Amino acid sequence: MMEATDENKLDPKSMYDLIFKDLHDHQDWFCNSIPLIASENVPSPAVREATLSDFGNRYAEGWAGERVYAGCVYIDKVELLCMQLARELFNVEFADVRPVSGVCANLTVYSAFTDPGDTILALAIPNGGHISTGRKEFNGTAGLVHGLEVEYFAFDKDNWNIDVDKTKEKVKKLKSEGKKVKLAMFGGSLFFFPHPIRELADFLKSEGIFVCYDSAHVSGLIAGGQFQQPLAEGAEAMTLSTHKTLFGPQGGTVLSWSKYADKIKVAAFPGTASNHHLHHVAGKAVAFAEFLQFGQAYSKQVISNAQALGKALSDEGLDVLAANLGYTKSHQIGIDVTKYNDGGTLEKELENANIIVNRQLIPGDIKAGRHYMHPGGLRLGTSEVTRLGMKEDEMKEIGSLMARIIVKKEDPAKVREDVEHMRSSYQKVHYAFETNTLAYKYVNVRT
Ligand SMILES: *Cc1c(COP(=O)(O)O)cnc(C)c1O
Repeated sequence: MMEATDENKLDPKSMYDLIFKDLHDHQDWFCNSIPLIASENVPSPAVREATLSDFGNRYAEGWAGERVYAGCVYIDKVELLCMQLARELFNVEFADVRPVSGVCANLTVYSAFTDPGDTILALAIPNGGHISTGRKEFNGTAGLVHGLEVEYFAFDKDNWNIDVDKTKEKVKKLKSEGKKVKLAMFGGSLFFFPHPIRELADFLKSEGIFVCYDSAHVSGLIAGGQFQQPLAEGAEAMTLSTHKTLFGPQGGTVLSWSKYADKIKVAAFPGTASNHHLHHVAGKAVAFAEFLQFGQAYSKQVISNAQALGKALSDEGLDVLAANLGYTKSHQIGIDVTKYNDGGTLEKELENANIIVNRQLIPGDIKAGRHYMHPGGLRLGTSEVTRLGMKEDEMKEIGSLMARIIVKKEDPAKVREDVEHMRSSYQKVHYAFETNTLAYKYVNVRT
C-alpha cells in the first residue's frame, strides 16, 4: 500500500471548492448554450425548489397511508396529490409515481407481468429501441436484470415505424417455435411517428400478450394531447420518464387500469425500490400541475418547432431523416451525417460551439460497420429550447448555426460567439406558473 505523503495527500477543502466551481461553471455554460438533447428539458424554478426540500432526506417505503416509516404526514399528502394529478393528466385509473426512473418503471412492468425466461417484443436499438428493453448480450435491462428474451418488432425503415403485418407474422412464427411472447413494449428513443397500437393491440391481446407503451420520450406530447393516446388506443399500461418532454425532475411513473393496480404496486415496492426519492415525488407533483395548465400549448409548440428545425436543416442541405414524411410528428429530429463526418466527431465539434446534441445509431449503421461511438447520425430534440420560449424563427437560426459547423466546417469558437448572442435573449422558463427566476440560475443554499 502506498504511504500518503504530503505531495499526494488529497486536500478535502480545495476539492470541495472545486466541486462548487464546476457546478457554477456548468450552469454558466448552459446559460450560453443551445440545449438540443432529446431526452432533456429544463424544470421550472418551482420544480427545482420542491426537489431541494427536506423530503429528499426522508424514508417513506410503501404506499401513501400505509408506510413502513413514521414522519410521512406531509409526504403522504403530496404523493396523493401527485398521483391524482398524474391520473388526471393522462386520463387513466391508476398511477404509481414511485419508480425513480424510466428504466425502473420498465423494470416494474417486467416484474409485474413477466417471468424470467419469457419473451418480449421491443424495437431493436438501431431502429430506435432503448437499452432498457434490450437483450442480455447488449447488457439491456430486460435481458440482464429480468432474464427476458427479446425479439424485435418487424420494422419498416421506409416509414420509420413498426410493420403491422410482418409483426403479426413474427408473433405467429415465434408461437409455432414454442416461444411464448408475454409482453409487447411499444415506444422508443429515436421516435418520430406514433406507433400502431390500435392496429396491433387486439391481435396481441388475443395471443395472450400484455401491451405496454414506453412513453419515456413522448409522455409530455401525450399529456398535451398532441401525440397518440396509447391507453385509449389499447395499451394496458404505460411507463414514462418525467423529465424528457414532461417538466419534471428526473424520475419515472407507471400508469394503468385499476385491475392491474395490485400487481404494479408490489412490483414498484418492495419489488424494484425501497425508498423512492420523495423530493422527486414533490417535483413530479409540481410538474404535473404545470403540465395540466400549460402542457397543451407547450407540446403543440414543441412539435411545430421540431418540424421547423427539420425543414431548416434540410434547407441547409443536410440529410434529415424521414424528410419525405414531414421529418417528425414528435419532438425529435434525426440527421444522417455520413456524407460530412461521423456523429461522434460532429457531436464534439457542435459542443465546442455550445450546441449540445447527441450522436445516434441509425438504421444501416451496424451493417456499415459503424458503432455507437462513431455512428452515422445525430439526434435533436426541441423540448428544452421550446421551454425557453423559442419558436419557429429561432429554429431557422439554429439550423443555420449547426450547418456552419457540419456543412461549412467553420471554426467552432467563431460560431460559439453567435450561439451565445442568440441564446442571451432566452433566459427564462415559459409555460409555468412562476416565470421570473432565471432558468439556469444557480441556487445558493450556503451563505
Ligand atoms: C430514456 C428512455 C428510458 C429510460 O428513462 P430513464 O428515465 O433515463 O431511466 C426508457 N425507455 C426509453 C424508450 C427511453 O428513451
